[in-house]
Amino acid sequence: MADMIKEYIKSVGADREPDMRPGDYRNEQGLIVCGKCGILRQKILKLPFGGEETIVHCTCLCEQEDMRKMAEQEKKREEMFRIRELKNTSLMDSKYADAKFCNYEQDADNSKAFKVAQNYVANFDKMFSDNQGLIFHGPVGTGKTYTAACIANALLDKETSVIMTSFVKILQEIQNTGVDEGVYLQKLNAARLLIIDDLGVERNTDYALEKTYNVVDSRARSKKPFILTTNLTWDELTKEQDLRYKRIFDRILEVCYPVHVPGKSHRIKKAAQRMNDTRKILEG
Ligand SMILES: [Zn+2]
Repeated sequence: MADMIKEYIKSVGADREPDMRPGDYRNEQGLIVCGKCGILRQKILKLPFGGEETIVHCTCLCEQEDMRKMAEQEKKREEMFRIRELKNTSLMDSKYADAKFCNYEQDADNSKAFKVAQNYVANFDKMFSDNQGLIFHGPVGTGKTYTAACIANALLDKETSVIMTSFVKILQEIQNTGVDEGVYLQKLNAARLLIIDDLGVERNTDYALEKTYNVVDSRARSKKPFILTTNLTWDELTKEQDLRYKRIFDRILEVCYPVHVPGKSHRIKKAAQRMNDTRKILEG
């Protein structure tokens, strides 16, 4: 037994003769000393039972720091890998990959949406446990989808699973691919946050309305939050008389905090700006 221990320690010790690094030197006992921090990189270990001595490698402060940095880098790499995986499964349109709060073009019309979105991310744990969602409503082209995508990217960067899709895509998926609706909805509901773009564009068939209700209802039942965007006005959302729509909107407003995003379309604003700039050049 004692021999086995001796052999083991010797073998470990032999493996742990560190490479000399620039500046390292040996002390009077022949042990390597770190040239940088001045700490021994080897020590003498007295073996039990026989009293024999062996030399083993021990880490100096620099080596400990190197190991800490390597572990940190490894952790970072794993984190990036998980984030990439989450992004790959988020279904988000690639054109929103760069939607970030730091790139947000704030103006008087969208500053409230911007603030709400940032606070939503900052308080996501609470929002999640309260099953609290958002609904961004307002005219076309005011940046509602972009704002929702900023939330998605900020949460994905914090390793939170997010799925971002649209009602049109969901309906197409259920209608055209023959996928089992229950299984499909379960997949969407697995994400901690579900973002669905463009509620209300498909004001048509009973079939579409039924499916839309199922999506909203199953999400609410899963006790996880969702964020919607819609071009519908507040009056359209709250004063609907048609029961087929009303039950959808009521279900949404039970769990989604409304955020009005007013203003003219960014596209229209940009076109007006361009016209102005061109006029200045051409007409002096
Ligand atoms: Zn050192």
